[in-house]
Amino acid sequence: MAIATINPATGETVQTFDAATDDEIERALALASSCAASYRSTTFAQRSAWMQATADLLEAEADNVAAMMTLEMGKTLASAKAEVLKCAKGFRFYADNAEAMVADEEANASAVGAKKAFVRYQPLGVVLAVMPWNFPLWQVVRFAAPALMIGNVGLLKHASNVPQSALYLADVIRRGGFPEGCFQTLLIGSGAVEGILRDPRVAAATLTGSEPAGRSVAAIAGDEVKHTVLELGGSDPYVVMPSADLDAAARVAVTARVQNNGQSCIAAKRFIVHTDVYDAFAAKFVELMSNLTVGDPTDPATDVGPLATEQGRVDVEELVDAAAAKGASILCGGKRSDGPGWFYPPTVVADITTDMDMYLAEVFGPVASLYRVADIDEAVAVANATTFGLGSNAWTTDEAEQERFINDLDAGQVFINGMTISYPELPFGGTRRSGNGRELSAHGIREFCNVKTVWVG
Ligand code: NAP
Repeated sequence: MAIATINPATGETVQTFDAATDDEIERALALASSCAASYRSTTFAQRSAWMQATADLLEAEADNVAAMMTLEMGKTLASAKAEVLKCAKGFRFYADNAEAMVADEEANASAVGAKKAFVRYQPLGVVLAVMPWNFPLWQVVRFAAPALMIGNVGLLKHASNVPQSALYLADVIRRGGFPEGCFQTLLIGSGAVEGILRDPRVAAATLTGSEPAGRSVAAIAGDEVKHTVLELGGSDPYVVMPSADLDAAARVAVTARVQNNGQSCIAAKRFIVHTDVYDAFAAKFVELMSNLTVGDPTDPATDVGPLATEQGRVDVEELVDAAAAKGASILCGGKRSDGPGWFYPPTVVADITTDMDMYLAEVFGPVASLYRVADIDEAVAVANATTFGLGSNAWTTDEAEQERFINDLDAGQVFINGMTISYPELPFGGTRRSGNGRELSAHGIREFCNVKTVWVG
């Protein structure tokens, strides 16, 4: 895949970039490695000040950065700006809280025959981050902020279609005051990842992206006995039970599905509705989806912009068309418009059966699958039917039902009467093929640590 900025709203190639040469990669690795050796002994106070300064820059530059993100991957300008500000918040969160999250943990010294016993969290060194285009800044920041606060050093391989965002991230972190080499962007294709990951100067890797990419990176890391965090795909269920506030459930369902033009790992993708309220929910949901404005992502009136890549639209279209050919009902959308740009309309598909690819696949676009279920047992069974386990959502005011969903939805996250959102304060990650490890909160900062046991006799 060429490293280039291609405007998804027009299909026009705006700028192409040369991939880093072997010499440039070697220089980056050498710099990261030497930086890691000294950076680990900077203080929390110093790192915190650099984090706050980076957050200040992000806030000051939010409008321009948002425009760049919209140009590169088509998200609406409003959502791009919100993402930049969320990144600033993420930096500030770890600036304020990291030291306490990784403070020494006293253990029961007498139980282990010691005068003193405790756990100390220490940085691992250079961590390779392989990142996707869909939240070009936030996906990276939720790795970078905790990693930099504990004293790790980052090497970023971003998706090939967001090179300007990738370069900006390294630049803004450097301007925030972090020492040279703490966080570098390498413009490389995915083929160069293996050599870097196998390099002894790289301690660990994090990958956010598709299952095949995760499997490849995890296999190489496994071979090298290096730790990984994997944040992969999802096909999140969104269950609606009879006691739910149907207006709120339908309204939030639309946002949960079409956020980021339908390209979010934690977007609700499968809407599983109790038969008693199925018709009423479906009517509201389809009406709201049909009323969304699709178009130029820089226009404030637009709800849904283009898909980020031409191939992404082909993938979505093929899944919908194949389901329709096997008898699925298209309740709205389902046909792309003519003209430039990779637009696809908000679409609702019902009557999906297990022989359709859509039943198990992640649909990475503004397409909702609607399922009618007879009771809570069937709701849980359909919700857990895919191989994913990232987020999950259930709408019910019945406390026993809430408990059932909290316990039985096989997912890293369950949101009751709301939609799945990533917050710096809460751990983020999945089960099964959605990956392993956690980002954000104290769990996120501890992922790339040596959890050192200390025993003093
Ligand atoms: P992708 O094709 O897997 O790409 C993600 C990153 O991995 C890119 O930097 C890509 O580089 C690189 N890559 C691809 N194949 C690779 C390989 N074999 N070895 C090493 N690196 C490789 O995914 P995407 O299309 O950008 O993103 C969409 C997917 O990400 C969806 O499945 C979505 O659910 C998932 N996602 C998950 C989370 C989460 O937190 N769980 C968050 C966001 C997105 P190139 O661009 O150069 O190919």
